[in-house]
Amino acid sequence: MITPDTGWTDAHCQLQEFIADGSLPEIRARAAAFNVTAFLVNGTSPDDWLQVASLADDPAVHPHFGLHPWFADRSDDWEPRLRDLLHRFPRAGIGEIGLDRQLTDTPYPRQLDTLRRQLILAQSLRRPCTLHAVGNVWDDLLAAVREHTPPAVLLHAWGGGTNNLKAWIDLGAYFSFGGALRRTPPSRKLEDTLRQIPPDRLLLETDAPWQDPRGKKHRSEPAQLPAVAEHAARIKNIPLETLRALTEQNRTACLRTGPPGGL
Ligand SMILES: [Zn+2]
Repeated sequence: MITPDTGWTDAHCQLQEFIADGSLPEIRARAAAFNVTAFLVNGTSPDDWLQVASLADDPAVHPHFGLHPWFADRSDDWEPRLRDLLHRFPRAGIGEIGLDRQLTDTPYPRQLDTLRRQLILAQSLRRPCTLHAVGNVWDDLLAAVREHTPPAVLLHAWGGGTNNLKAWIDLGAYFSFGGALRRTPPSRKLEDTLRQIPPDRLLLETDAPWQDPRGKKHRSEPAQLPAVAEHAARIKNIPLETLRALTEQNRTACLRTGPPGGL
């Protein structure tokens, strides 16, 4: 249902990156001006989990704690620390976690092991997971998720093309599209994939402060979410207002699979 107070959801961002330089209040104010009212905030390693935790009391923030594949070999005691945080924050998801064969030197077997352990945690604590996947990892990722069955998975910054797409849809996955939709020239492959995503599985993100469509020197921020949405609405051929309501519903559905009474 569309109500005047329905806001946009940024389904993947790292608001904690705006704490150190004091820009977070300004970033939040600009997001509010663009009616971006919900944030799935993802941690990446024990180094930023406490910053994410410091934002978690805000009802607009949906915290996720996870060990990113890039950092899978940088911590030996992450598992008990992650478990503690998940117990402390019963509405938190696990993210971002995943596999990456392209943008990191972290040994792949270590990435796989770290991913599996976190999926097992997600299964036992009934937490949704946000997944990062880059490079030729799709078969392994799909196999791991099928084996450990977390209650929900959100594939962030979807760039997988149509590879395995049907299998992920059948599995009940949610798909989040981001700043890549704003690039010029547009990626036909990405647009074709977006057209194939069922409306009830679609989410949008900025990946702030990363993946600014202007390039690496720029920091993206949640206020850019409506600009992403304009492209998504045009490609999906649905009104912007409908898309806003849809992504809000999908956020709730994706996160609701946590513990009873939690989310
Ligand atoms: Zn990522």
